[in-house]
Amino acid sequence: MKYVEEFRDGQAVRAYAERIRRLVTRPWQIMEICGGQTHTIVKYGIDELLPPTVRLVHGPGCPVCVTPVGAIDRALAIAARPEVTFCSFGDMLRVPGSRKNLLMIKAEGGDVRMVYSPLDALAIAEANPQREVVFFAIGFETTAPTAAMAAWQARRKGIRNFSLLVSQVRVPPAIEALMEAPDNAIQGFLAAGHVCAIMGTEEYLPLAARYRMPLVVTGFEPLDLMQGIHRCLTQLEAGRHEVEIQYARAVRPQGNPAARRMLGEVFRIIDREWRGLGVIPASGLGLSEAYADFDAEQRFPVGELPAADDHGCMSGLILRGVAKPRDCPAFGTRCTPEHPLGATMVSSEGACAAYQRYRRLTEEALA
Ligand code: SF4
Repeated sequence: MKYVEEFRDGQAVRAYAERIRRLVTRPWQIMEICGGQTHTIVKYGIDELLPPTVRLVHGPGCPVCVTPVGAIDRALAIAARPEVTFCSFGDMLRVPGSRKNLLMIKAEGGDVRMVYSPLDALAIAEANPQREVVFFAIGFETTAPTAAMAAWQARRKGIRNFSLLVSQVRVPPAIEALMEAPDNAIQGFLAAGHVCAIMGTEEYLPLAARYRMPLVVTGFEPLDLMQGIHRCLTQLEAGRHEVEIQYARAVRPQGNPAARRMLGEVFRIIDREWRGLGVIPASGLGLSEAYADFDAEQRFPVGELPAADDHGCMSGLILRGVAKPRDCPAFGTRCTPEHPLGATMVSSEGACAAYQRYRRLTEEALA
């Protein structure tokens, strides 16, 4: 398959590993900030091909994982209403709120449906004018344009029984928050290719300059990752701190102007809480004034719900790159994909799920 197979070439990957081994002269720590990249790293053992002095840590790059418990509790309260058909991406259905998850609401009689796109939810609203259809809009700049498009189309078609429960987040302010943390040890970033395919790279330029860190926009296949890591390490060893695009087959510095225009029309930038990182200024998207009537939180006010976070779960530390899944005492014992205690295990893009899926088997085979 063009643009996929050549980026899974094992020989080319090993050649880059050798170049990295010859390049590195001291310890470095690099964070990837994309759940898809985390899975590729763990699945293909990219981190194990690197010299032991190069440490890869997994950041808050999984959209389900960074959605805070409070947002999930609000989703549960709205989904339980008899007049509501609540639509969500599949990963979100099993993520625990304070006491329940969306699948439990469905089991109790709630009309909860899995969809692949907000436009599917809009089609449900159009076909069922007697129902109030709510889409749970989560994720990064990657998913935000289709949520914006759904609201834009709803307005254009006059569909009044559709609304969005918005918990969209933006990556650059999260990178700033990670770099400002007192225990931060990150020296370079691999930025997510699909986020930058939408937003471009201009927001990353001041971050690279202020924190004197290289930032390489990287793809998702094994060779993409090795090339991104190699470029990042090349800059670190040379004392450079620039924004580079490894994922040039999809990313332009200006991003996707049409998608950015749609985002600018439907959303506005607001402060947003992230699981594990707290409230980060200007890190979220909320509906703009012009689209406020599509806001599910205004249509179905639920008030302040006291959120109880995952007891004993280290997801927050893992999402900040301070800990890795195997540092958690519950990993693989009390916490498994079948019985997840926290978001990084329940989501297919979560770091704990990746280690459980790929590394546990390797370790058992070696034991
Ligand atoms: S293994 Fe489970 S309990 Fe531990 S950090 Fe991961 S999700 Fe949380």
